[in-house]
Amino acid sequence: MASSKVYVVTGSNKGIGLAIVRALCKQNDGVVYLTARDENRGLQSVELLKKEGLNPSFHKLDIDDNKSIAEFRDFLKTTHGGLDVLVNNAAIAYKVNTTEPFSEQAEVTCRINFFATMNCCNELFPLLRPHARVVNVSSSCGFLKRINGKEPESLELQKRFANPNLATDELISLVNDFVQSAKENTHSSKGWPNSAYVVSKVSVSALTRIQQREIDQTRPNDDILVNHVHPGYVDTDMTSHKGPLTIDQGAEAPTWLAILPANNAANPKGQYVWNNKAIVDW
Ligand code: NDP
Repeated sequence: MASSKVYVVTGSNKGIGLAIVRALCKQNDGVVYLTARDENRGLQSVELLKKEGLNPSFHKLDIDDNKSIAEFRDFLKTTHGGLDVLVNNAAIAYKVNTTEPFSEQAEVTCRINFFATMNCCNELFPLLRPHARVVNVSSSCGFLKRINGKEPESLELQKRFANPNLATDELISLVNDFVQSAKENTHSSKGWPNSAYVVSKVSVSALTRIQQREIDQTRPNDDILVNHVHPGYVDTDMTSHKGPLTIDQGAEAPTWLAILPANNAANPKGQYVWNNKAIVDW
């Protein structure tokens, strides 16, 4: 089994994640895991793809549950001995007209989109084989300049996020500061935007840069690439079906990053990639 490529897409029972699994299955060169926090929803989606003649595998994975992540990690280790592609797609977004307090939106959105994604990476990265590809699904909201609250505080925050030597601990402190400030309703005066989703995605993008830097230091010869991507504005539940792109169109750039060829100097590396596959200055 160790020779077969292993692909994992988080939160892939629907939306862009489902379409990424579909596109990866069409590559037909390994085992593609459709994962979902809800087993029934996941298995239904596996059946849907099977009716299309594709053959995804299923495993339960709730990225917001450390036990679930650990079980999946152990399963991958025992069954395949490693991992070749990890697409961190799972995320949530509160609706614009939500009545949940902003403090709660901040806490929950950052917990799932940032902290849970980071925890999942921390557990699964040791399994990455040479030439592995990691795709962090960010957003146009992950663009650094979306930290656009009160100046000069927001410019200072941008500077801290963009620091090329930013350490993981500092990034965690930044996110915790946002969550705490949202609780105290001081986030605006401290330069944070009025969107928890923006902070969570800017943080995922900043994390990507840290991850690539650390991999370059610890595994310099292994050709492992970590990129962050804006998939485009896509017709999914998250956008209340307002996005003009189909889920298959939204899957194009993430899938492209997931299957970048081995040892190609032209490959994006630690880059912010737009849905047209262009590298964008973060
Ligand atoms: P959807 O809401 O359609 O799908 C989100 C997926 O994530 C669902 O499968 C959901 O599972 C899953 N998920 C949520 N929480 C967890 C969790 N704790 N563990 C595992 N899975 C979880 O969203 P999209 O397909 O639109 O979004 C996919 C990615 O693309 C996200 O990262 C999003 O932020 C990003 N994005 C989307 C854009 C768009 O226009 N749609 C634009 C820019 C970025 P469940 O069904 O159980 O809720």
